[in-house]
Amino acid sequence: MYNYTKQEKKIFMADKKHILLLTTGGTIASLPGDAGLEPRQAGVMEREIQQLRTHYEITVEDVMCLDSSNILPRQWQQIARYIFSKYAGYDGIVVSHGTDTMAYTASAVTFMLPNFPIPVVFTGSQLPLANVLSDGPDNLRTAFAMAASGAAGVFLAFDRRIMRGCRAVKVRASDFSAFESVNARYAGMISSRGLVLDPRALPVQTGSPCLKESLSEDVFLLKLTPGLSPNIFSALVQMGYKGIVVEAFGLGGVNILEGGLDGIAQAVQAGVSVVVTTQCLYDSSDLRVYQVGNKLLELGVIQGRDMTSEAAMTKLMWALGQGMDPGQIATLFTQSLAGEITVEE
Ligand code: ASP
Repeated sequence: MYNYTKQEKKIFMADKKHILLLTTGGTIASLPGDAGLEPRQAGVMEREIQQLRTHYEITVEDVMCLDSSNILPRQWQQIARYIFSKYAGYDGIVVSHGTDTMAYTASAVTFMLPNFPIPVVFTGSQLPLANVLSDGPDNLRTAFAMAASGAAGVFLAFDRRIMRGCRAVKVRASDFSAFESVNARYAGMISSRGLVLDPRALPVQTGSPCLKESLSEDVFLLKLTPGLSPNIFSALVQMGYKGIVVEAFGLGGVNILEGGLDGIAQAVQAGVSVVVTTQCLYDSSDLRVYQVGNKLLELGVIQGRDMTSEAAMTKLMWALGQGMDPGQIATLFTQSLAGEITVEE
């Protein structure tokens, strides 16, 4: 084993940041089981954590052990509560999580922890750490560097890039470059210069940290398709949904012919908040450009602009959970809570 020189020890050990690693499962902590990969407790990550201990003071806690496909809104709340109850005394927090729904969790946790004073960094991997070729060690190193950076807020680290939790989208099912920061700059990148942060992409604190964990699960995400029956909206209202995020076409187009708008009109009249985003991954919807969009605005739908569907969904769930009425929700969607939307000047 290599023994550090005094000088090296001084550099590595001085002022070690204290990082809390919360594990929740996912591929990163999986081992092959009888029916495919199964998530395990932090024990399977021990070799990598040992390496990182050279640079950081690390406390590890298993919060849950789930494939992220099985993570529900109540687990988002559990994670947010856990983070809020434990953060004192730490410089940063890393949350290891399955990649499949990590963007939803990171976005929801962003809204549940306004003005969080230290970095919270979600990460995972496409190959289990148990695989010698895993991308996990690299992702963990990136996440720990960000967690130790002092840049407050909720982030997602993957493939040497760091993005805001509420801007991340999983864009690739197996490639190591699995996440993109959609319509927003990276908050940071790892390069030969080390961790380089972009101050323009870092959240701005506007108050004291708090835990606002209430969420409504009565939100439906609907992808519009040509010919979709407008009756779908009345069916959703009947099912008790209080919010609908519509992924419309292009800049925000919907079919307005042959009663195409009736369903949305009925939903809005029934007090349901309807947020219209675009099914294009990049750029912003803008309902003011086309006649089909302006018809929607007349009905009272809310513009999702350049938010990701994950952020629009979780923001609406959060707003309804906070007891906001449709008017308050419409106003909230013109505001950026954590950089999830580009606000018009
Ligand atoms: N199915 C896994 C999960 O989301 C995939 C991954 O972690 O990459 O938990």
